Amino acid sequence: MIKADFKDYQLSSEILKAIGMLNFKNPTKVQERVIPAVLEQKDIIVKSQTGSGKTAAFAIPICQLVDWEENKPQALVITPTRELAIQVKEDIFNLGRFKRIKVAAIYGGTSFYNQQKELKQKTHVVVGTPGRIIEHLDNMTFDVSNIKYLVIDEADEMLDMGFIEQLETIIDSLPKEHVTMLLSATMPKDIKDLCNKYMNHPVQVEIEEENKTADRIIQERYHIEELDKMELLIDMTIVENPDSCIIFCNTKQKVDEVYQELLRLQYSCRKIHGGMEQRDRLKVMNDFKLGNFRYLVATDVAARGLDIDNITLVINYDMPEDGESYVHRIGRTGRIGKLGRAITFAVQNDTRFLNEIHQYIGKEIPLRERPEKEAVEHAKAEFNEKKSTAPEMKETKGAELSKEIMKLHINAGKKTKMRAVDVVGTLCGIEGMTKADIGIINIIDVSTFVEILNDKGEMVFQKLQNTPIKGRLRRVSKVEDN
Ligand code: AMP
Repeated sequence: MIKADFKDYQLSSEILKAIGMLNFKNPTKVQERVIPAVLEQKDIIVKSQTGSGKTAAFAIPICQLVDWEENKPQALVITPTRELAIQVKEDIFNLGRFKRIKVAAIYGGTSFYNQQKELKQKTHVVVGTPGRIIEHLDNMTFDVSNIKYLVIDEADEMLDMGFIEQLETIIDSLPKEHVTMLLSATMPKDIKDLCNKYMNHPVQVEIEEENKTADRIIQERYHIEELDKMELLIDMTIVENPDSCIIFCNTKQKVDEVYQELLRLQYSCRKIHGGMEQRDRLKVMNDFKLGNFRYLVATDVAARGLDIDNITLVINYDMPEDGESYVHRIGRTGRIGKLGRAITFAVQNDTRFLNEIHQYIGKEIPLRERPEKEAVEHAKAEFNEKKSTAPEMKETKGAELSKEIMKLHINAGKKTKMRAVDVVGTLCGIEGMTKADIGIINIIDVSTFVEILNDKGEMVFQKLQNTPIKGRLRRVSKVEDN
């Protein structure tokens, strides 16, 4: 069978370059269906799991379609959680990098004022959670008059979290003419109603079986008494000796408990749950993505949609309470094209949930005997060796893209009336530089950040040490977090 190719779509060289550098060789099934339809400005309903490449499926055509010259936001992506908002923002940013697409994320738990300032600047795409989007709409700090593309991501989760009314409020505030993309792993009635009410002859895309999480992940369950769970967890980690593992619990208290115990045993581990400050949650997720530690103890906060590569093992320390949650949790492993492994602990009282999960995934999770003491003893040496070595650092998704991009800081900003044209003017005056070598420019109070593309950063950095910008020499430095 001939595989589809990204070059088959009407995509600009900037977008194709970003796709290439992200190492996406061929479109996934969902992308094959979604990209052409959205490029034709059709409404679309996508029933597909995370891990299918669904984010890029809408992000690629959006990056293609937005008009760079326009300053007001043209696309709005609504996500149920803050973590997902940040993730989607990063994905769009990476895909739109060479087109210099500006993406803002607006979500609760962080400064409203900073988001307001960001929204005042040129912004092509806004990604946000319902509550904060509405706050910005109420305060008139988010101009939606030019929104042409609306994405409702993980609509079923939005429903579960009680966001349907808020969704409707947001949709009602948008211009009537816009393309709507709705993505959902399941299609409950309320979501169907929403589609009927707001969408115009939508294309329906359903990606089934092939991507079914269940097939890519080796699953097993262990029957156990509640009091013996910790001991089994230790044994399983020794025998499995994963490079990267998430341990799911159903409550914050349980997360704290398991985390404390693993910490006491000197596991390379951290925790995440909804009771933690937003800033701390983000830091933990980011460190986990980078591979700074091996074990993450989490509630379902971490289960949805988050895209972290190479998680080798998921352990359900507590049984998830429905099939969907099970699929989402274990879907953190076995991402595109990789095999994963998921272990579930079941206590007597879990029978009802277990049956529901079996029904949902359409098969029984194989029951296993807990590892023999000898097997655990035997595995200990290797486990301890890994424990005593630092985990391998993972490259972030955009790392390849960043290699040829250097971000510079210029010590002048809005307060000194610096404008993007001043920066562009100076940069284009440097021999060998054209507009196409300039990435995103971000001007704030007393600072300007500018990306220099195509490996020209060092050269520009040197030149700017003695080239005036807007009539004066400015302090220019490299920004390392690029
Ligand atoms: P998602 O379903 O959006 O959570 O995406 C799952 C993962 O697949 C992400 O890590 C994407 O970067 C990656 N991905 C998306 N599209 C492709 C593609 N065409 N080829 C390879 N990987 C992809």
